Amino acid sequence: MLYTGNVSPHFTYGELKCHCCDYNGTTQLLVNQLEVMRQMACDLFKKETPIIISCAYRCIAHNRKLGSKDNSFHVKGLAVDVVRIGEWTADDNHAEIISLASRAGFRALRSNGCVHCDLGNMIRR
Ligand SMILES: [Zn+2]
Ligand SMILES: [Zn+2]
Repeated sequence: MLYTGNVSPHFTYGELKCHCCDYNGTTQLLVNQLEVMRQMACDLFKKETPIIISCAYRCIAHNRKLGSKDNSFHVKGLAVDVVRIGEWTADDNHAEIISLASRAGFRALRSNGCVHCDLGNMIRR
């Protein structure tokens, strides 16, 4: 596993790692779907469009500290919290972000200052 640099053409290890311990348990599936979502956003805005992420992978200790459940999709490396896509912010344009994320295969819902996106629809367990 790479500990620095890019994990995919447009996302870096640092963006997706756990904020407490720097471990990155993000799954390849999540990274693939993030690339799909980014490409859809770029097509929509007709330019290179960054997706700004506040949080992706969380180790179990960090996840508990945030008060989240142990079976959180963040712990499984299958969730990402998006704060901005292009000109859209999660606070002002959450409906657009949710719609885009859904079309990219995510289950998306509004959270505090972000849109939580996970792959619960793709992974049944
Ligand atoms: Zn951690
Ligand atoms: Zn989340």
